[in-house]
Amino acid sequence: MLEWHPAMKRVYFDNNATTPVDPEVLQAMLPYFCEIYGNASSIHSTGQKARSGVEKAREQVAALLGARANEVTFTSGGTESDNLAIQGIVAAAEGEKKHVIAAKIEHSAVRNTCEALAERGVDVTFVPSGGDGVINPDDVRNALRPETVLICIMHANNELGTVQPVEEIGRIAAEADVWFHTDAVQSAGKIPVDVEKIGCDSLAISGHKIYAPKGVGALYLRKGTRTQPILFGGHHERDRRPGTENVAGIVALGHACEMARTKLEAESERLSALRNRFEQGIVAAVPHARVNGQNAPRTPNTANITIPFIEGEAMVIALDLRGLSCSTGAACSSGAVAPSPVLTAIGMQPAEARATLRFSLGKFTTSEDVDFALRLIPGVAEQLRELSPLYKKPVAV
Ligand code: PLP
Repeated sequence: MLEWHPAMKRVYFDNNATTPVDPEVLQAMLPYFCEIYGNASSIHSTGQKARSGVEKAREQVAALLGARANEVTFTSGGTESDNLAIQGIVAAAEGEKKHVIAAKIEHSAVRNTCEALAERGVDVTFVPSGGDGVINPDDVRNALRPETVLICIMHANNELGTVQPVEEIGRIAAEADVWFHTDAVQSAGKIPVDVEKIGCDSLAISGHKIYAPKGVGALYLRKGTRTQPILFGGHHERDRRPGTENVAGIVALGHACEMARTKLEAESERLSALRNRFEQGIVAAVPHARVNGQNAPRTPNTANITIPFIEGEAMVIALDLRGLSCSTGAACSSGAVAPSPVLTAIGMQPAEARATLRFSLGKFTTSEDVDFALRLIPGVAEQLRELSPLYKKPVAV
């Protein structure tokens, strides 16, 4: 099979790792580099023009989340938003002994923040996930203790796309009078995210997952949520997050949120139709291939597929050489030898987890891209399987 060269088509199925900046978003942010370059804290007009860009973006982010603008704090991305919520809320909570509940299938931005708190003496319970990639709210309820201060359950999982029962978990948190943080990095802009319906006290989003650049994100903090800053400096962002604002990035994030909000329903339908056709095509053409989390509520763009007897990293490289970008597990843990903790948490054996690939479609994915992937993947899977001593070709009858 031919290797890819620049004249050939390239298809990008790794939008959960990052998305390209939408050209319209780029146009919106460009003036904030050389023309409207002021510091948003300066009182002169150059500064105030930058300030109005930031405040318009705050409204746009709030509109996507069903929040009020003054409940939005800009950060450097999803990781910082999760850290600010979790560390900040736990630090501000009262009590000698503090307990936090999180899910085993959280992104490392949440999981490792909780692990770090555990090293500092906070008790942490990681609740399991069902084999379908969905958390049982009863497990959260049963993990509650008198000293529980925070529940962290993600909205949509980054590897499987599975959507968690956050509304029910929000009710459990409210009844127990415990703060509730949700990581909406993979759901915002793909499915409706409404902080009132979810009943969360804090919610994290990231720019580069929704066609804004890397290095900008936001944290929703419900009015009245007691929190402490995790960085110290000036009085920016209502004393919640010091540091001169990344004005161009913030403007881009606002614009991306507005675009996502106005096209959410139509885009979600378009993507789920493409994703479903892709999954059906793979299952039909690749013996033993199976889709993980298929019967659970899912984000419309994510396909997580196990292709037994292949080695995931080898498949990613083989597909890359032929023009298709996809990933194994979470992008951040690619290259690590250990199988994805999310896949092991849903009960996969290490060999199965290593034979699992994530294909995440995006707003620039076309029907032709799906055709291309469906033409490519079965042959590459077959070639790799032939290298496996365990694989026996199905015999035609
Ligand atoms: N949370 C989830 C669910 C993610 O998928 C990611 C990124 O992959 C993050 C948090 C981290 O976001 P960022 O890359 O903006 O730090």
